[in-house]
Amino acid sequence: MTARILDGKALAAGLRARVAERARAAGIAPGLRFIRVGEDPASVVYVRNKDRAAAEAGFDSGTIVLPADATEAALLAEIARLNTDPAVDGILVQLPLPPQIRTQAVLDAIDPAKDVDGFHPVNAGLLATGRPRLVPCTPRGVMHLLAEAGVALPGARVKIIGRSAIVGRPLAQLLIGADATVTMLHSRTRDLPAECRRAEVLIAAAGRPELVRGDWLSEGAVVIDVGINRLPDGRLVGDVAFAEAALRASAITPVPGGVGPMTIACLLENTLDAALARRGLS
Ligand code: NAD
Repeated sequence: MTARILDGKALAAGLRARVAERARAAGIAPGLRFIRVGEDPASVVYVRNKDRAAAEAGFDSGTIVLPADATEAALLAEIARLNTDPAVDGILVQLPLPPQIRTQAVLDAIDPAKDVDGFHPVNAGLLATGRPRLVPCTPRGVMHLLAEAGVALPGARVKIIGRSAIVGRPLAQLLIGADATVTMLHSRTRDLPAECRRAEVLIAAAGRPELVRGDWLSEGAVVIDVGINRLPDGRLVGDVAFAEAALRASAITPVPGGVGPMTIACLLENTLDAALARRGLS
């Protein structure tokens, strides 16, 4: 079998256009603010791309940059200001933060109604209790990709490698909500290849370059590769050995160009949701 390549870039472009159109039709320009602390090169690129995508969708978007030695109190003050600013619908603090700042304290300080990353414990709790409101962007993007792949989720054996709070856990909740039979695999799982071979849908979010080999897959599996790993030679690869996997899977996401673009599109979707909800329009 040769896999169908799930083109996240094209799917994301369509989603971004639909979000822009919905905002226009509602007559609103959702307000989104990014906060970046310091000049971590990857964070600079990520925030720039997200800010640009938001502006392209007609959002009122902007980035606040604090110095790398900013105190936690200074960052919390900035968040408090945005929490009460009526023009702001969404707040995104780019991670990672410098070591003098406690990440959890910062995420907990964001108004849950403006938490477009979906990392606040209130939003995580709503998701875990089956009442999703603002959900993390990458898992939301994976759900769109599974729909695009035509996967019938009810009853399907879905296995997720990785149990982080930003990808694996919230994704498991969304999949349970969609009636999938979900198994979490992680660094302490025994015989990972054997577990993977039983998956009808395999989602890799471990951050380990090309961890999943072709012979870990059942024939016809759908493979979603969340991993983004930079090799010493500069190449970007996922958590799945793509060429091998594509020979057995029925559908697979590439890296880059798979989950990554969907994450940005879903940030816009979340921000529109937050903006509509704040205006009583949803
Ligand atoms: P994390 O380090 O917080 O979590 C990794 C998880 O994988 C852990 O639960 C760990 O138990 C598990 N794991 C690690 N090594 C393993 C192994 N050898 N076998 C089985 N399980 C193992 O990572 P994260 O923040 O969830 O990110 C995971 C990957 O996804 C990274 O490559 C990251 O860059 C990428 N990512 C991509 C996007 C995107 O938009 N495409 C967004 C977020 C994260």
